[in-house]
Amino acid sequence: MRLRHKPWAKDYLEEHAGIVIKEPETKSGKWSAIFGNENPVHVEVGTGKGQFVVGMALANPDINYIGIEHFDSIIVSAVEKVVDSGIPANLRLLRANGKELTDIFEKGEVARVYLNFSDPWPKSRHAKRRLTHGEFLSLYQSVMPEDGEIHFKTDNRGLFEYSLVAMSEYGMRLLDVSLDLHAEMPEDNVMTEYEEKFSAKGQPIYRLEARFMS
Ligand code: SAM
Repeated sequence: MRLRHKPWAKDYLEEHAGIVIKEPETKSGKWSAIFGNENPVHVEVGTGKGQFVVGMALANPDINYIGIEHFDSIIVSAVEKVVDSGIPANLRLLRANGKELTDIFEKGEVARVYLNFSDPWPKSRHAKRRLTHGEFLSLYQSVMPEDGEIHFKTDNRGLFEYSLVAMSEYGMRLLDVSLDLHAEMPEDNVMTEYEEKFSAKGQPIYRLEARFMS
């Protein structure tokens, strides 16, 4: 994702503090109270400009969605989308790093994690930055119930292969694997910005669902 300096981003995020929750580490254990219901909470780590999380929130009003993105200059675009979509009550955004997940959520507070078109970090010395590295899987597990799920889409074959191995080494159970999601195109698929871009170029989209095992 190209980073553009947006000097107005900080003020814009302040103005939309109802959407982008400030100091999320102070909200651990309080997410049901923030949403005002006991519906499951699904989190997308690396939400980018927000197309997926906004689409999911509009399509599934009985699920609460939280999009996490670590760059101000990118998350502002997601906030604009939330505003344009009428600010769904079941959606919040966090300007945070996925590494901070265990500060933000209590064990069992997140029912599902979505990872969409995560940065591949192809050099092996950067493997720990991949959002499907064992250390990240451990963080996700720490905030989920015993049977929490990860749903992952990517255009990057190398990252997909790496993730299959990382999840299986971690002891997760694969529930579903597709090597060409768009060939079957499930009716409920909500496309991300990157998914639109890469599928328009004819690249296959890889997808998996995996569950933690107790
Ligand atoms: N998910 C979007 C999509 O599919 O269109 C964006 C994909 S983009 C390649 C990856 C995004 O993840 C970037 O916006 C990046 O800033 C964000 N990201 C990467 N690592 C992250 C982390 N550790 N915590 C939060 N965001 C992260």
